[in-house]
Amino acid sequence: MLPKDQLTTKSSRFDSSNRIEGTFTPVQFVRGVGPKLGSIFESRGIKTVQDLMFFFPRAYEDRSKSVAISDLQEGIKQTVKVRISSAKRIPLRRQRRTMFEARAEDESGESIRFKWFHSPRGIENQLKAGVELTASGTVKSFMGNKEMIHPELSFQPGRFAGEDYNTGRIVPIYSELDGIPTRTFRKVLWNAMQQYGNTILEDLPEWIVQKHELPSLQCSLSKIHFPEGDVSQHLEFASSYHHRVIYEEFFKFEILVLLQRLNLRKESARFLSLTRSAAIVEKQIEKLPFTLTSAQNKAIESILKEISDERPMNRLIQGDVGSGKTVVCFLSALAALEQNFQVCLMAPTEILAEQHFHNALKLFGTDFNVALLTGKTPQKERDRLNQRIQSGEALFLIGTHALIEDPVQFKELILVMIDEQHRFGVNQRKKLREKGGRKAPHTLVLTATPIPRTLSLTVYGDLSVTSIRELPPGRKPIESFFVKGKRSTRQAYQRIHDELSKGRQAYFIFPLVNESEAEGFTDLKSAIQEKERLQEEVFPDFKVGLLHGQLNSKEKSKIMGQFKNNHIQILVSTTVVEVGVDVPNATIMTIEHSDRFGLSQLHQLRGRVGRGEHQSYCFLMASERISETATERLKVMEKTQNGFEIAEADLRIRGPGEFLGTRQSGALPFKVGDILRDQAWLSRARDDATDILKNDPDFKKISNIPLRNYFEREGKNKLHQLMTS
Ligand code: ADP
Ligand code: MG
Repeated sequence: MLPKDQLTTKSSRFDSSNRIEGTFTPVQFVRGVGPKLGSIFESRGIKTVQDLMFFFPRAYEDRSKSVAISDLQEGIKQTVKVRISSAKRIPLRRQRRTMFEARAEDESGESIRFKWFHSPRGIENQLKAGVELTASGTVKSFMGNKEMIHPELSFQPGRFAGEDYNTGRIVPIYSELDGIPTRTFRKVLWNAMQQYGNTILEDLPEWIVQKHELPSLQCSLSKIHFPEGDVSQHLEFASSYHHRVIYEEFFKFEILVLLQRLNLRKESARFLSLTRSAAIVEKQIEKLPFTLTSAQNKAIESILKEISDERPMNRLIQGDVGSGKTVVCFLSALAALEQNFQVCLMAPTEILAEQHFHNALKLFGTDFNVALLTGKTPQKERDRLNQRIQSGEALFLIGTHALIEDPVQFKELILVMIDEQHRFGVNQRKKLREKGGRKAPHTLVLTATPIPRTLSLTVYGDLSVTSIRELPPGRKPIESFFVKGKRSTRQAYQRIHDELSKGRQAYFIFPLVNESEAEGFTDLKSAIQEKERLQEEVFPDFKVGLLHGQLNSKEKSKIMGQFKNNHIQILVSTTVVEVGVDVPNATIMTIEHSDRFGLSQLHQLRGRVGRGEHQSYCFLMASERISETATERLKVMEKTQNGFEIAEADLRIRGPGEFLGTRQSGALPFKVGDILRDQAWLSRARDDATDILKNDPDFKKISNIPLRNYFEREGKNKLHQLMTS
């Protein structure tokens, strides 16, 4: 029998070993599964009974009511209760096969035919005259007769009411997985609930379950698969049963994330003298060619304070493009360097790493030993550099992810900085942090992709966040135009020409990154061809350069250098310039096929201009053919320059996976919860987790014992996964 609704919960207090068997039993031991089906399940990630129970229906069908044959409507799925009057095999004309046909009547004597073109084995023996059954299927009319092709049958109608899972109730419909039909899922899930339903135990403390008025896990799972009554909320994952599993998933995740944060804070770090740091940083600030914004000042202040403490800092600075994060980084680095500690800065592209390197040289001159390590650093030089890092001679190391790949070990690393953090995987932060040796370094990560709050609770849950929401004064908003079609394109080119004539520079961005990504995008003009066209036909009086991912590093830096000192006025490029690049005299950003980019990415690209004193422009180009939604999306860019608003819109439109990019979406390990749809539950879970870790971090209270059991059993493993994933 299905368990009754229950608000009370069983605690896993004494049964944790039992549980390991229970729903942790390999899926093949569920009645009706066996080794063959079991291995198909397994290849699709359904390994245990529990995994199976979390494979939720994608739809439901109401077969609780049977309909009189005379009332059947064509074209919809309905259920009838009938008695077979005759059944036989009929040869199909001009074919070798046969079909099976049965005639049946209901109470009132109306008749219907059932037909099978591929008849299930043994059907002759089941469908004998006089047999009573329930049949569900789509009703058709054929030569004046009502019929159902391949109906689903259920025998013994009414006899075991409530125990039959195929009819006489609301039945679940599952997505087809490797050709496993929904009927099979229904059967094995029914069996799984029967066999293992009462071994489903609670990991949530009862007080939490009661606080949110949630049903028990056992009840929730059985009601999700085999509901009774109203299922209108089931498909939206909005029933209390769904909320129950969603909450639990979020809650466990938040506990892990917060535990990770606590663990990090338990480590000890090298630390600076605050007075000394403050003095040197202040002196440097006076020398800067501009005044820091108050947001920049605040950020520096909190960083200096934190790196003067023994507990490791773990801070994210999110500031819109152009808000001046680099100088915050460098000033923080300065404090450490001056006290003879090592600092490293990692950037996602060579171009950006080199830019940082040159800026560091400009800022620090020869005061400190600054080094650059990227993929193009020759092996010999690398070996020498590694020695200098290990001995502590090289103080400030700037580079790309070559930093983590190399066997670099620092002598006294105190501060790790990661620019454009969203371009890295979560694990890379950790890897770099491990380079510090015995003591944990402080970590500062920067991003220009503002993270909506729902995401920051998850992806960056272990970081404290500083936002720089202010741009340096005097920045003029970038005028943005959505340009569709040939005529508007010509007008845009004219505008660009005028600006170039005034001495400004322009970017032209193409979505094609390299030829290997060209498949499926054959309609896209490649950057290479376009460069020729722009040079020859459109802007013959200016010099056009080309930058893309397939150039070698030397060529890349050469072109970038030529653009920087205005030997090239137009830079045709792929998205390699998306992040970080800073050329203040460039005031025009033209993005071709702009509908192919995510909004946040467009925002980043647009952020390459508007960095100096001159008015800047952004042209979002698209062909006439793009869809209305794409047009809507691009119009958002015309309307706002607020990175937070754009990020929210982007997240809404593309969903978290796309928004974060493949590398980081792995950081969202949710099976049922959806951070957008279930925001409210995410916040509740976060608040509860925070409370518990504050008041009872080791789950010592009797009421929290289920949690202790869970985390002792699985948590360490999960925590490990989280920290290394
Ligand atoms: P991002 O936050 O996008 O990394 P950058 O650090 O590259 O931005 O800064 C963008 C530009 O603004 C740089 O040219 C930098 O020198 C300049 N800048 C930074 N802070 C200020 C400020 N307070 N006033 C004026 N210009 C600034
Ligand atoms: Mg930057």
